[in-house]
Amino acid sequence: MNNEKKFIYLMSVIALFFALLYKLVNFVVYSQDMKFVNISIILLNMLLMIIISIIILSSIVSYFILKNKKINKNIMKINLKIVNAMYPLIIVTTKIFSIPKNDIRRVYVTLNNNYIYSNKYNFKAEDIMLITPHCIQKNFCKHKVTNDIENCRKCGQCNVEDLVKLKQKYNVKAFVATGGTLARKIIIQNKPKAVIAIACERDLTSGIQDVSKFQVIGILNKRPNGPCFNTEIDIEDVEEAIKFFLGGN
Ligand code: SF4
Repeated sequence: MNNEKKFIYLMSVIALFFALLYKLVNFVVYSQDMKFVNISIILLNMLLMIIISIIILSSIVSYFILKNKKINKNIMKINLKIVNAMYPLIIVTTKIFSIPKNDIRRVYVTLNNNYIYSNKYNFKAEDIMLITPHCIQKNFCKHKVTNDIENCRKCGQCNVEDLVKLKQKYNVKAFVATGGTLARKIIIQNKPKAVIAIACERDLTSGIQDVSKFQVIGILNKRPNGPCFNTEIDIEDVEEAIKFFLGGN
């Protein structure tokens, strides 16, 4: 099963859960031989029906977004808010069905990126920030790129050099953070209008959610040496995101 199907499957399970809850509430209420139905029961029923409808609609919209179908950007925005609200429940459900969380996180990042790419921006270069964790730097490198990315000596052994080149080419801001907390702090302190964040599935998902007032494109890193060690990135994806925020495409 691909990641998209896993996501839709989990959304369906959650909708089914609320449908069962709805049936249970009604079964309990009507088995009590009540002479009149309490207003709170009616409201609860209505609430459950609304939740079920929202989940079904969100599943359909998400499916089309993930299939790269053209969807109105406002609908994508609302859908992203719904997925955000349901996200903790979706993650709990992954545990029950033994679905890797990272598969769902990848779907989340795709939903977010597709929404951002459905908009048009024309930001100044200084309002765009690149941020990446320090595991992108080769572990043997002694240069303190976390203090200033331009401390990189451009030896060509890791993607830090590529990020420095992009920083200098486009005049955007670029940072290497020692962790997710510091990355959030750097973003909040610098107040960029757009962020191009590079990280693993977990950090990217939580980061996008934590700094949702900024426009964030998430780019997943590659981990040929295992997690958090000498990671790599597709630098073309980063450059494409910079050009997009500059209004180029
Ligand atoms: S490219 Fe820069 S950061 Fe990477 S190993 Fe070389 S000097 Fe260090």
